[in-house]
Amino acid sequence: CDMGGLDNLVANTTYLKAQSLDDKEMRKHKPIPKDFEHICEQQPIGKTCFRQFPLASNPEYLAAAEFLEELNDWNLAEAGAKEKARQNIINKFCKADSKSFLAYLTEDMAEKCKAVSEKDFEEVMMGQVKEATQEFLRGKPFNEYQTSPFFDRFVQWKEFEKQPISDKYFYEFRTLGKGGFGEVKSTGQMYACKKLDKKRLKKKGGEKMALLEKKILEKVNSLFLVNLAYAFDTKTHLCLVMTLMNGGDLKYHIYHTAEHGIEMERIIHYTAQITTGILHLHAMDIAYRDMKPENVLLDSQGQCRLSDLGLAAGTKGYMAPEILKQEPYRMSVDWWALGCSIYEMVAGRLPFRDHKEKVTKEEIVRRTLEDECKFEHKNFDAPSKDIISLFLKKNVEDRLGCKGDPWKHEFFKSINIPRLEAGLIPPPWVPKPNVVYAKDTGDIRDFSEVKGVEFDANDEKFFKEFSTGAVPIPWQQEMIDNGLFDELNDPNRKKLSAGLDDD
Ligand code: ADP
Ligand code: MG
Ligand code: MG
Repeated sequence: CDMGGLDNLVANTTYLKAQSLDDKEMRKHKPIPKDFEHICEQQPIGKTCFRQFPLASNPEYLAAAEFLEELNDWNLAEAGAKEKARQNIINKFCKADSKSFLAYLTEDMAEKCKAVSEKDFEEVMMGQVKEATQEFLRGKPFNEYQTSPFFDRFVQWKEFEKQPISDKYFYEFRTLGKGGFGEVKSTGQMYACKKLDKKRLKKKGGEKMALLEKKILEKVNSLFLVNLAYAFDTKTHLCLVMTLMNGGDLKYHIYHTAEHGIEMERIIHYTAQITTGILHLHAMDIAYRDMKPENVLLDSQGQCRLSDLGLAAGTKGYMAPEILKQEPYRMSVDWWALGCSIYEMVAGRLPFRDHKEKVTKEEIVRRTLEDECKFEHKNFDAPSKDIISLFLKKNVEDRLGCKGDPWKHEFFKSINIPRLEAGLIPPPWVPKPNVVYAKDTGDIRDFSEVKGVEFDANDEKFFKEFSTGAVPIPWQQEMIDNGLFDELNDPNRKKLSAGLDDD
């Protein structure tokens, strides 16, 4: 079955092993160390290698690393377990006679730690003390790490990560039945693959947009955004391999129920996940600009992510007043569109347009600019009405998200935000397996070959710029999840399983 992927895996494994034989050779490849966060926290293999290093050398480093982990556990603990986790942290790290005492803390800070109450624990620990710990790790430990064999390991994996990627790396599982999308399998993970026809792209002049979409996708790393794992090309196509979301989009789920609309518990969960996704984009100075239920996709578990991060110009019915008035705008439009989307999830219609209502663009513009939004549907409750009204403030300065913190709104009071952000809240609804959640419009893809398009040196340059191969964070996660990382990292490694290693 999966021979393409398997052959490739064997080749890659051999490549990695050959490299591990020659340490001196490896040191030449050493990248210039970037920041601590990037090397030791964000990248899964980087984090693991760094985590393995302090164990071998220094109890003080270990205490610092463990403190950060336990602080994270405390942050994610459910209400009932929080107090115990807090006590543990104080006893283990803040008392001078404990062997895990954080000795790098100033006396002042250590005193403060011991004295913290349940109330200001978060402020002190997640603030000052966490910063001091990161500062400490960034210094001597990080420097020593960079001359250790653990870092060499990491550098080796970074080399492996740069391997050229082609369609041979993937096993084509099935077509997803929607224009250009397929489901593919790599070394262990299922992904969605978006294929762009090179000739069609050139004919439409869509190269810049495609490259931009790719560059945005590879920059974002969030549980609530569709993430890019690989970008490569074939003779005929540019391919984006990304998080597989086969549970249907929210527009489908709103209108494929008897009563058009979703239950409130689900709406709150989805809205919280969407909000996390939007905030992630905004933190990177990216405006989403096409927030609407159709672009929110569910995975097979029922968790949702924002998709279609290409540079969109907004969709009729979700456009904020400042767009319609052609004023300069940025992040504010996403909060407006989120208000429209929550409204639609509840009522099965838009605030200023009934479902399938035949109405001119001008009338929608007029209603959006002049009318107050009405809440006639029986499913609106007080918190949902209030949060929608706040997102639909016509004045940007009054709009929730631009003014005030959405998380503080009572609409979200049932949600433990840190747990939600960490992906730990189970979805309220799980898509049925074997159901294809897509409109049955047939495959509207145009298979005809585009004629009269030839590629020149410039096109080849663009294809190369697009085809950067594996994206570090998802690729490293895949190597950990498929077991290859553990298997190759184990110094007592026996033969690789499943005949991968019969040399
Ligand atoms: P376009 O920019 O051409 O509209 P999209 O990125 O919106 O392309 O994708 C088109 C359709 O493909 C979507 O409406 C959705 O149904 C499906 N799709 C998009 N991303 C994924 C994904 N990550 N997993 C599964 N299906 C997807
Ligand atoms: Mg698009
Ligand atoms: Mg789309």
